[in-house]
Amino acid sequence: MTRTSGGGGAMVTAINRRDFVKAGVAASLSAGVVRTAGAASHPDVIVIGAGLSGLNAMLLLEELGVRAICLEGRERPGGRLLSEPNVAGNPEWGGDSILGAYARMQDTANRLDIPLIDHHARRDMSPEAHRDPARVELALGGQVIPRDEWPTHPLNDMPAGARDRFPGRGYFQSVIAQHNPLASFADWMEPESAQYDGSAYEFFKELGWSDAAIELNYNTNVQYGTSAHDVSMLMWYFVQAWFKLQSDVARVAYKVHGGNQRFTDAMANALNGEVHYGKRVIGIRNNESDVEVHCHDGSVYRAARVICSLPIPTMRWVKFDPLLPPAKVKAIQTVQVQKITKVIMVPTSPFWEEDGLNPAMWTDTDAGEIRALREGEDSNSVTCLMAWARGHLADRLDTLGHEGGMAQVLSAYEQLRPAAKGKLELAGAKSWQTDPFAGGDWAIWAPGQVIECLPALIEPAGRIHFCGEHTATANRGMEGAMESGERVAFEVWDLL
Ligand SMILES: Cc1cc2nc3c(=O)[nH]c(=O)nc-3n(C[C@H](O)[C@H](O)[C@H](O)COP(=O)(O)OP(=O)(O)OC[C@H]3O[C@@H](n4cnc5c(N)ncnc54)[C@H](O)[C@@H]3O)c2cc1C
Repeated sequence: MTRTSGGGGAMVTAINRRDFVKAGVAASLSAGVVRTAGAASHPDVIVIGAGLSGLNAMLLLEELGVRAICLEGRERPGGRLLSEPNVAGNPEWGGDSILGAYARMQDTANRLDIPLIDHHARRDMSPEAHRDPARVELALGGQVIPRDEWPTHPLNDMPAGARDRFPGRGYFQSVIAQHNPLASFADWMEPESAQYDGSAYEFFKELGWSDAAIELNYNTNVQYGTSAHDVSMLMWYFVQAWFKLQSDVARVAYKVHGGNQRFTDAMANALNGEVHYGKRVIGIRNNESDVEVHCHDGSVYRAARVICSLPIPTMRWVKFDPLLPPAKVKAIQTVQVQKITKVIMVPTSPFWEEDGLNPAMWTDTDAGEIRALREGEDSNSVTCLMAWARGHLADRLDTLGHEGGMAQVLSAYEQLRPAAKGKLELAGAKSWQTDPFAGGDWAIWAPGQVIECLPALIEPAGRIHFCGEHTATANRGMEGAMESGERVAFEVWDLL
C-alpha cells in the first residue's frame, strides 16, 4: 500500500510539529524572550552533517526564523540512509524500516509528501518470520537443518524448555521481555536503573544458559555489539520495551517508495538555507562570541552556534579547540557503534523452486543472515537477497576487500545450497565501519555507559551543540535521529 497522506492508524499519534512550534514561539514571546540574530554576514547556526538529525534540526530552526547553513562531507544528503538505485525495489544499504511509533518520521513524510509503503508483511527475516517455519531456513555447521529435526538435532544448544524455538533475536528478546524490570522504557536513564546495568552475558548466565546457548542465540548474527559480553542489559531492556511500543502502536514497517534516501532528499529540498556538499569538517573552534568551523578544503565558516550531528567515530577525527570536557571525550572515545557489512545478490532464476528450500537463511557461516526481499510491485516475487554480516563477521569480510568480501558471501551461500550456483548476480556491498563519514552504525552501550556516557554526549560544549541518533533518549534509529534534531533545535533556539 502506498501512503501519501495522513489518516492511517499510526498517524493519529504523530505530533503536529507546526502547532508544536507555534505553541513554543507563543510561549517564549509571552515570557518576554528576545532573540538576537547573528552578524549580518554569517548565519546564526551552522549544522554539521546532512543526515536525518542535522536536517531535522535545520528545518525546525528555519521554521523558527533562524538563518542556518549546513556543511556536509559527502556529495549527497542522507548520511546513513542510502538506497540502491540499480536493484528492483531500491533496497536499503542503511536505515530500513519506519516503525509504528515513529511519529516524527511519519509526520515529516506527511508534510513533505513523501510516499511510504508498508513492507511489514514482506519481511522474511523478522522475528515474526522466525516463528513461521515456512519462511526461513536454519543452517548450522555447514548443513541446512530441517525444522522438524531441529528439536532433537545434535547442534541444538537451545536452553532447557526452548529446544523447539528458532535461535536468535526473536527468541532471546522474548526472554528479555519476561524479565524486563523497567516500568516504562523511559526509565532506562534513571539513576536507580543502574542496578540493572550488567552485561547481556551475565543476564543469560543468571537464567542458567550454557555458553553454547549464548553463542548460538546472541553471538551468532549478533545484532548489538560483537558478543553478549560487550553490551549493556539496561540498553536491552530499553530496546525491548521500545520495540514493543512500536508494534503496539501499529504493526507496520514503512519504507519510502523509491528508496529511503528520498526522505532526506525531500528534507534537504525543503530548506531555505544552503547545504554545502563536499565540506569535510576537520576542526571546530569555540570562541567567546562565535564558533569557527574548519573544512578539509581550507574553507572556514563562522556562526553564533554550531550543531554537530557527526556520528561518534567521525567525531574522533575532528579537532575541537579548546578540548571538549573530559566526560565527553571519554564518551566519544569509548562508546562503540555496530559493525555492519551488507551484500546484495540478485537471483536470475528461482533456484529455491529446484531445491525446495526458502531463499531466506539464518546461518553461522560467512553468509551471515540472508533476507529474501520482496520489494517489487508483486509482493510475492523475490527482488534480491540481502546478506547481513555484523560484528566480527563484518570485520572479517572487510579484510577481504570489496570484491573479495562479496565473493566470500556468495560462495558460503552456494555451499549451503548448490542449486543457487550460477543463479545469483552480485549487485554490490556496503561496509559501514569503513565508510569515512559513518565509521559504523548505531550506538552500542556497554555496561555502565548509558548512565555515564549518554548524558555526556548530549551536553553542549560552549557554543557547540550535539545531536545524532547516539544522543536520543526515547527512541532509536531514524526516529532517534529525528528526536535528537528536534531537541537540539530548541536547545540552540533558546540561546540565540
Ligand atoms: C545497515 C543499517 C540498517 C539500519 N536500519 C534501521 C532501521 O530499520 N530502522 C531505523 O530506525 N534505523 C535504522 N538504521 C539507523 C538509521 O539509519 C540511523 O540511526 C540514522 O540514519 C542516523 O541519522 P543521523 O543524522 O544521526 O546520522 P547520519 O545519517 O550518519 O548523519 C551524519 C552526517 O554527517 C556527515 N559527516 C560525517 N562526518 C563528517 C565530517 N567530518 N564533515 C562533514 N560531514 C560529516 C555524514 O556524511 C552524514 O551525512 C540503520 C542503519 C544502518 C547503517
